[in-house]
Amino acid sequence: MSDRIILETRDLTCRFYGKKALLSRERPFVTAVDGVSLSIRDGETLGLVGESGCGKSTLGKAILRLIEPTAGQVLFEGRDMAAASAEELRALRRELQVVFQDPYSSLNPRMTAFELVEAPLEVHRIGTKAERAARVAEMLRMVGIDEGSLHKFPHEFSGGQRQRIGIARALILGPRFIICDEAVSALDVSVRAQILNLLRSLQRQMGLTMLFISHDLSVIRHISDRVAVMYLGSIVELAPKAELYAHPLHPYTRGLLSAIPIPDVHRVRLDEIPEGEIPDSYHQPAGCKYHNRCPLAQDVCRRERPALREACDGHFVACHLAREKSSE
Ligand code: SF4
Repeated sequence: MSDRIILETRDLTCRFYGKKALLSRERPFVTAVDGVSLSIRDGETLGLVGESGCGKSTLGKAILRLIEPTAGQVLFEGRDMAAASAEELRALRRELQVVFQDPYSSLNPRMTAFELVEAPLEVHRIGTKAERAARVAEMLRMVGIDEGSLHKFPHEFSGGQRQRIGIARALILGPRFIICDEAVSALDVSVRAQILNLLRSLQRQMGLTMLFISHDLSVIRHISDRVAVMYLGSIVELAPKAELYAHPLHPYTRGLLSAIPIPDVHRVRLDEIPEGEIPDSYHQPAGCKYHNRCPLAQDVCRRERPALREACDGHFVACHLAREKSSE
């Protein structure tokens, strides 16, 4: 992995507006992504973790411009994606791809595995029919689909095999950057490990950079180089994986780690499981967004929103009270 930044978001914000209430002047809105600034290095896997509804999938879609951000920038290799012409955006789409959670609903049931993986090549008018056939067969072989299954339909495959086809489809154009959005969440545990290992192996072979989105800290630990923790649309902690799991600084991260049900004899359990539900997105708390669930909240937390600051080398945290190392 190099130190070169391949993808960057600057103050990226996504708001969704609801209907105006009778007699109200303003439309209510949800800020799903709230001024997120992230840098992803060439060849790394950045894990993005948080509870359902925290905005992590919206952030992924905004990076890919599957939804238009309300404000902020996405830079790919220094180029502002919002300023890209239609032609440039088409070229950029070859470089940035996505693997979704549910391969069954993201694959057309009327197309064979071969046709599904060939389709992006046809859309981008790449190669002759024979060249495309060779490339598709090679890609499917790389993800572990044997030649005898090329002309089967999605319903004839298992969940893990369907996800392998989804991965082949995402990688057939030779992208530099992929977003895996809950890509293994729908799979059985044993299959999950196989797909994670496959992604790791393909990453090395193809020099990929990954943003891996998951609500599951065990999965994030398995695959990531660095980890960003998201809460109500904001990044609250960001650190190299080993540092984050050994010395979580933000009470929310400490709570998430405490909530992992599998006992870990190497880790002191931190009895800080978050209480209550994630607040209604239409009514985000003032000050620190976590203050109504945080066991350490003080007056300053209710008044002032903490900025994401570097607490120690490469370890960033947004908390008024976080010190350099946790004192568990
Ligand atoms: Fe808890 Fe205060 Fe830190 Fe927010 S700023 S996480 S409320 S201690």
